[in-house]
Amino acid sequence: MKEKEEKQNKDCIFCKIARGEIKVEKILETENFFAIKDLHPKTRGHVLVIPKKHFLNLLDLPSSLYGEMLETAKEIALNLMKQENSEGFNLIMNNFEVAGQKVMHAHLHILPRYDDNVEMGLP
Ligand code: 5GP
Ligand code: ZN
Repeated sequence: MKEKEEKQNKDCIFCKIARGEIKVEKILETENFFAIKDLHPKTRGHVLVIPKKHFLNLLDLPSSLYGEMLETAKEIALNLMKQENSEGFNLIMNNFEVAGQKVMHAHLHILPRYDDNVEMGLP
């Protein structure tokens, strides 16, 4: 099982970031999650909350981690509202390819919104 898990994780971009093989600025780190800026932000300040372990999507993520994931998102959203002057935010999670998931390692999008009301399209 461990070998299989390691094999699955080998080429995953978010696992590489989690392992420190790709250096990125981590906005926040908790026991089981880290948050980074999205490489192609859909709105200014677009952030991703990512579990450190390789889970495919929400269905694969243990429910014991839901609270920590949302607490992490909440803290980041509050900081974005204070620091970037966003007035609201969207939380989006794409699950499976047909729903637009491109990176097959579970992650939550935090999209700060501003009063310009720019159409953003789904991430
Ligand atoms: P998905 O469509 O899978 O829900 O979203 C994947 C997101 O990951 C996209 O918004 C994409 O811009 C972002 N992304 C893909 N590769 C990288 C990367 O190497 N670094 C960062 N920071 N974001 C990435
Ligand atoms: Zn992964």
